[in-house]
Order: sequence, then structure tokens, then C-alpha cells
Amino acid sequence: MKRIAVLTSGGDAPGMNAAVRAVVRKAIYEGMEVFGINYGYAGMVAGDIFPLTGRDVGDKISRGGTFLYSARFPEFAEVEGQLAGIEQLKKHGIEGVVVVGGDGSYHGAMRLTEHGFPAVGVPGTIDNDIVGTDYTIGFDTAVTTALDAIDKIRDTSSSHKRTFIVEVMGRSAGDIALWAGIGAGADEILIPEHDFDVNELVASIKHGYKNGKNHNIIVLAEGVMSGSELAKKVKAAGDDSDLRVSTLGHIQRGGTPTARDRVLASWMGARAVELLKAGRGGLAVGIHNEKLVESPILGSAEEGALFSLDNGKIIVNNPHKANLDLFKL
Ligand code: ATP
Repeated sequence: MKRIAVLTSGGDAPGMNAAVRAVVRKAIYEGMEVFGINYGYAGMVAGDIFPLTGRDVGDKISRGGTFLYSARFPEFAEVEGQLAGIEQLKKHGIEGVVVVGGDGSYHGAMRLTEHGFPAVGVPGTIDNDIVGTDYTIGFDTAVTTALDAIDKIRDTSSSHKRTFIVEVMGRSAGDIALWAGIGAGADEILIPEHDFDVNELVASIKHGYKNGKNHNIIVLAEGVMSGSELAKKVKAAGDDSDLRVSTLGHIQRGGTPTARDRVLASWMGARAVELLKAGRGGLAVGIHNEKLVESPILGSAEEGALFSLDNGKIIVNNPHKANLDLFKL
């Protein structure tokens, strides 16, 4: 393969730039040419495609967001959109694509591969909800940001003896809540993967104050319900504390990527190029037990898939989820 392209798609995540940088630099090192595609699949179909040099990705590794921009483009789920994208790629002499994004973006990469156009996925999303990798690029930064915010909320919570519901992102996955909640020493962590009982929650809040606590921090994953919804339920169940809701929102998506995300992005971007160079498409790069792995993007993207395959070995997604019970602190 002589010429490849790279795009970022879906929700942005800190570390996407580091991944693009790695793709560009590794491809050039391997004697290939690289093109950038702006605005994900929307830019592919619109022909917003341009050559990238090693210099173009200088000063990018530390920047949050994505300098290639991202977009939601539902038209790419239709075959006409996919063929229009491929026509543009062919026009530019591009033979393979690296797609940095979440599971929706993986579906697009899968469709390209099915049309005979090799595409490789690199998991870029803060949600850590992609099968075939223990961690996604951006997750560590999002957790660090949420943790920092919860630490600050704890200060004010203690000063006023308040209960705080802190709603964090993660879509239908509880990983950000779990990690930020454990790291911040939250009193309760509510995640979609586990049911909770609102009466038990209220009892726990009351018990805490009775035992001399100055605050109560409840970390809530957005996939359970919104902070305001939970506040209503908690009040209806008899909570009499001074209750506040804080929704962290998009601050979790921005900011300078952590060392972990930069390194992960660099490893994964480089591996994606190696796969394309070997003519292998339809794969997603991941990390499992601290080793780089690849698995079929079909398994990774399939809605509700519980596992994917790596050289015939089954990879269970996010093995730390299996240890949730350990975290009942
Ligand atoms: P995040 O999880 O961070 O939001 P994502 O990649 O899952 O990222 P989506 O909005 O679901 O985000 O998908 C990104 C883009 O991928 C879509 O806008 C669309 O262009 C493409 N895409 C999504 N689903 C499909 C599909 N079934 N077939 C082809 N392309 C798709």
C-alpha cells in the first residue's frame, strides 16, 4: 500500500491528535504517503481530502480535540454515502484508511472494508465502551478531568455539609463514573451495569451524616439517568440533606491528553499503519493486558457484542468490569 488516509469521527477525545500524528509519522517512515480527511465521513464524501506531511503534525501531540475536525454524518450508514466516499478516495489514489473514533465510526470502517476498501479502526472515545480493547484513547484524560472536578466539589461539599450528585459522561458505559468515583473516594457510584435501590441510597446518605460525615458525594454515570432526575427520586425517597447537582458535561471531552493517552494513541496509530501496510483491513487496534492486539472490527463494532477475537483467542471487553464487586467500598 503506497497511499493511505486518516480521519477522526464521532465524539472527539483527547489523544486523537496524538493518534493522527503517529499514523502520519509512521506511514512516512514506512515509505507511504498520507492524506488527511477533515470532518470524518462527511469530509470523505465531500472530498475534503489533503496531503499531510510530517511537519503538519508537529506541535499536535499535546493538544486536545482533533485538528482534523470531527462530524456526525448519518448518511454514511447508507450504501450511496459509502460508495460516494470510496469514489473520492479513489480519486485521490488512496488505498486504505485509518479511522480514529468510536463504535459508530467502526461501522463506517467495516462498510468500507466490505466494499473492498481496507480500513482499520483506532479506538478514540472518552467512554471506554469499545469491544476489543481494555482502554480507549481519551478515557484516561476524561477520568483525570472528572477526578479533578470531583475533588473540588468535595471541598465545597464539606464546607457546607452538602450532598452532591455529580453526573459524569460515558454514554451507556459506567467506566468514567467507576474510575473517577473510586479515585475521588465517592460515597456512592451509580453505573448502568449495576442496579441500585434509591431507598438504600437515601439510607446510606443519612447513615453518613449520622456518623459525622461532612459531605456526601454520589458519582452518577449519565447512562443511569440525569442528575436532576436522580435528585427528584432521592428527595421523593425521603432525603432531607442539602442536595445539589453538578453535571460535569463537555469539560470531560477537552483538555491536554494525559501521558497515558498520548502513549496509547502513539502505539495504536503506529500499529494501524503496520496493518494497512500488510494489506490487512477490517481490523480494530486495541490494548489487552498492556499488549497491543487487533481484532475483527466486525466483532468490535457489532452492537452488544461481548467479545472479539484475536488470532482465535477470545477477548472479553474491559475485564476490569468483571471486578465491579471488588469496588463495593
Ligand atoms: P462516540 O462513541 O465518541 O460518539 P462514535 O464513532 O460512536 O463516537 P457515532 O456518531 O456513532 O460516533 O458515529 C460516527 C460516524 O460514523 C457517524 O456520524 C457516521 O458517519 C458513521 N457511522 C455510524 N454508524 C454507521 C453505520 N452503521 N454504517 C456506516 N457508517 C456509520
